[in-house]
Amino acid sequence: MTSLLIGHPSFLDHDTGRHHPERADRMRAVLAALDDEEFTGLPRLAAPSATLEQLTRVHPQDYVEAILGIRPPPGELVQIDGDTIMSAGSAAAARHAAGAVVAGVDAVMTGVARTAFAAVRPPGHHALPSVPGGFCLFNSVAVGALHAQVVHGLERVAIVDFDVHHGQGTQAIVEPDPRLFYASTHQSPLYPGTGSPRERGVAGNVVNVPLPPGSGSAEFRAAWGERILPVLDDFAPQLVLLSAGFDAHRRDPLAQLDVETADFVWLTEDLLSIAGRHADGRVVSALEGGYDLDALAEATAAHVRTLMRRS
Ligand SMILES: [Zn+2]
Repeated sequence: MTSLLIGHPSFLDHDTGRHHPERADRMRAVLAALDDEEFTGLPRLAAPSATLEQLTRVHPQDYVEAILGIRPPPGELVQIDGDTIMSAGSAAAARHAAGAVVAGVDAVMTGVARTAFAAVRPPGHHALPSVPGGFCLFNSVAVGALHAQVVHGLERVAIVDFDVHHGQGTQAIVEPDPRLFYASTHQSPLYPGTGSPRERGVAGNVVNVPLPPGSGSAEFRAAWGERILPVLDDFAPQLVLLSAGFDAHRRDPLAQLDVETADFVWLTEDLLSIAGRHADGRVVSALEGGYDLDALAEATAAHVRTLMRRS
């Protein structure tokens, strides 16, 4: 068995303007890091474009059509909201980002790989069914989760979100369905302002642990080790999807947590152990945030290295 890296050239064509933190240089930094010799044995797959059927499991058809219909002329940008921007290549990139997670789910469910990492942008976890936002257009990880339910017949799918922002879009999709599970650590206060521990879904299938600014390795590991991972273990997921944002890193400019690359590795290992106990090791991880290019490259490489080592 092996791991799999899923990408697509369209992720470089999602142009957000000159001063936007969620920029194509992020993908260039990730790809450069994964170009290192140690990753030469890692099989690579070009992401397919998500189908309308796959997207409309999460998003209403009129929303999908509206997003796909926003295609400004080359060089022009459309402001979707205060911080979400679309260019000529954005709709195709968002569609491939969701398709990458779907392809990752198919790969681990059919035994092509044990784990997969989708190096995608735009990110997805802030996208609500009918509302884009927070740099996100389609909720790629949720599209992957519902694909796993419908096509692969899974009864228990977990989404684990260690991005420094709360994935309120993913939570909204998971909340009413006890066959899904969502857990997040996130800085609070911070955008989008959701993610209170009191938000517990139905049957406790949502677990939120907000962390105050300045929290570091000890607080991050305690949140996961004591408050989230035991509940995830009890849920016994048949598949673990990761919203892998690396903006909790201490060097990230968009948040004020002091998490280190070693903490992401520690968490990845524990998540792989839980997946090993319940899901035959199946983990599909998708890139979300991470805005310091060096920290993003370092943490992503360490995360993928851990996925490879344990696959
Ligand atoms: Zn984030």
